[in-house]
Amino acid sequence: MILPKNNRLTPEQLNEVTSIVTEFGCQIQPIIGAIRTIYAIVGDERDELMMNRLEGLTYVDRIDRIQSPFKLMDKRSDLASHRIKLGGITLGENLLIIAGACTIDPKNPNYFYETAHAVKEAGAHVLRGGVWKPRTNPYTFQGDVKSLDILMEASRRTGLPVDSEVMEESHIKLALDAGVHSLQVGARNALNYSLLRAIGRAIAEKDTAVLLKRSIHMGPLNEFISAAEYIAAFGNPNVILCPRGTTPTLDGYRNHPDESITPLLKEKTWAPVVVDPSHSVGKSSYVPAAALAAVAYGADGLCIESHVEPAKGIGDDPKQALTPDVLKKTIVQAKQLWNLKRN
Ligand code: PEP
Ligand code: MN
Repeated sequence: MILPKNNRLTPEQLNEVTSIVTEFGCQIQPIIGAIRTIYAIVGDERDELMMNRLEGLTYVDRIDRIQSPFKLMDKRSDLASHRIKLGGITLGENLLIIAGACTIDPKNPNYFYETAHAVKEAGAHVLRGGVWKPRTNPYTFQGDVKSLDILMEASRRTGLPVDSEVMEESHIKLALDAGVHSLQVGARNALNYSLLRAIGRAIAEKDTAVLLKRSIHMGPLNEFISAAEYIAAFGNPNVILCPRGTTPTLDGYRNHPDESITPLLKEKTWAPVVVDPSHSVGKSSYVPAAALAAVAYGADGLCIESHVEPAKGIGDDPKQALTPDVLKKTIVQAKQLWNLKRN
């Protein structure tokens, strides 16, 4: 990673460093920050001659030589001071709450509009709503592109930014063109590297965030953080890690709650962690405790499924969505715990 003396390299300087690294089979990926741009060397950085030539340039302050499989997302990276903002919240400074329906029902949009207002009233900063759905059973509702309009209309009505899952490359453009603020990568696609790359490429020059769920099967920490690196490598490091329970399940819960992973992640990466307790335990009555446990373990935020009338919802909503009153109470308690931990 190249750190320039000034806030950014001039086009001529960028050309010069690019031509040096190209000689050694590497490329330069600028990571544009609000104040300063840093330049990741993509490729094998171990060539001493290349590093010496870069270090010798008068306009280079220093070269950050992090030996890590995820040099951008690494806690020791110069990006560690990068802050992700979503829904008026700077992650790490306040507890971020994402809430809303699992699945938008295109036949009954009013449930989603009412849910959107209700989660805002309950204290959510970001509205979630599934347009395209990864379903275990191929004969169940798979989502509908019409729901994208409903999602964005709910965003306009409430003023809340929205988070929604994209499952295929074609969804990315549709979601970004519609104005979705946070792209969710679901647990099933968390290791779909071509999708991760396509997302990274599509948001490289935007301030869109990505809520990257942890894959369904328990994998090493590095695998999760490296998945985030796939996206960040294209230049936008706004990747939020989202543990959501793994398999094998804990008998009785939908998955094995994995919110205890947060302190371990935080030893390795600066990326914020927003825990999804809904998919983790999979039953509304267990969700509030799981949400508080996540905060106790140091989560920077929560992503909770909620619906004005869960029984009338579709997808996961009948079994795991919180009613707005329970959501509100959970948010109040989660914030109290978060403040308690801070002071
Ligand atoms: C969801 O958020 O509704 C969802 C399907 O999540 P996951 O990928 O965690 O199962
Ligand atoms: Mn769901």
